[in-house]
Amino acid sequence: MPNLDRYSRQTVLEQVGKEGQKRLLDAHVSVLGLGALGTVSSTLLVRAGVGHLTVIDRDVVELVNLQRQVLYGEDDIGLPKAPVAAARLRQMNSSIKVEGMAKDVSSANVLGLLKGSELILDGTDNLETRFLLNEACVETETPWVYAGVIGTEGRVMSIVPGKTACFRCFSRSLPAPGTLPTCETAGVLNSVAAATASLQVTEAIKLMVGEEPAGHLMVLDGWSPELLRIKMPRSRTCPVCVGGKREYLGGRRPQVITALCGGNTISFDPLHKGKVDLAGIAMRLEKIGKVKVAGGVVVFETGRHRMTIFEDGRALIKGARSPGEARSLYSKYVGL
Ligand SMILES: [Zn+2]
Repeated sequence: MPNLDRYSRQTVLEQVGKEGQKRLLDAHVSVLGLGALGTVSSTLLVRAGVGHLTVIDRDVVELVNLQRQVLYGEDDIGLPKAPVAAARLRQMNSSIKVEGMAKDVSSANVLGLLKGSELILDGTDNLETRFLLNEACVETETPWVYAGVIGTEGRVMSIVPGKTACFRCFSRSLPAPGTLPTCETAGVLNSVAAATASLQVTEAIKLMVGEEPAGHLMVLDGWSPELLRIKMPRSRTCPVCVGGKREYLGGRRPQVITALCGGNTISFDPLHKGKVDLAGIAMRLEKIGKVKVAGGVVVFETGRHRMTIFEDGRALIKGARSPGEARSLYSKYVGL
């Protein structure tokens, strides 16, 4: 019988109780992405006593992260997020197991990285990785809690394969790169990100203590504020949870990332085929860096990075030190 003293404020809750707390302590949960959402959700999970937590992120800490990513400080700038976050989380609760993995999740490694996790929390910043995560979770029948935040709006839904709609039941196709706003171009309020992560962790705790998922998508307007709950039925024509397609997991549509020789430039070719809206992308990027539109390309400069975006969505990313960093920069500034 583990010592439950430190969780007494939780065990007295009738929704959790000692039985529920033991389930949390027995659980292995992964948090994929350690940004505005993942830093808050992993903090709450560790303090709530999830017995084994794996945190995964491919990025390094940057100054602009500190506004909302609560596990990092100024001294961490330039360090990889996953080990920094894991070390800080261990300080909060030494009685549980915390693992940090500085990995770029892809179709090649997603199943291996998430193996053994009974629940996954989405802290990713792009739809493409969510589509991949959704397929991995449908394939392995692993529940996950979707969360996304942009501006002052957050979204959360518990997705339990076989019981609720999967992510593709209501989010059918991947929009062209540069169509969706990103936190870099549209901004994000730290308090709304934290509120969204809190809703996500509540959903995670409910699943861990054995509550049935409601099948609702929650949409939080953090500024008004207002919380909508929208019933999301399973789609009879869903390509993933009904049709069995694995477009992302199967790696039949790999992104092409090529390191160009003779310099620190990486060519990134996203999955999307067709033209992207270069004028729209340029307009959004003008707010955060130097932008030049010429000869059918957009050239965007910020800090030590220069990105040349072509009208088919491909980009040359100068200053990227690894394929993971190139993917990350593209995802942040153009949006996937
Ligand atoms: Zn589905």
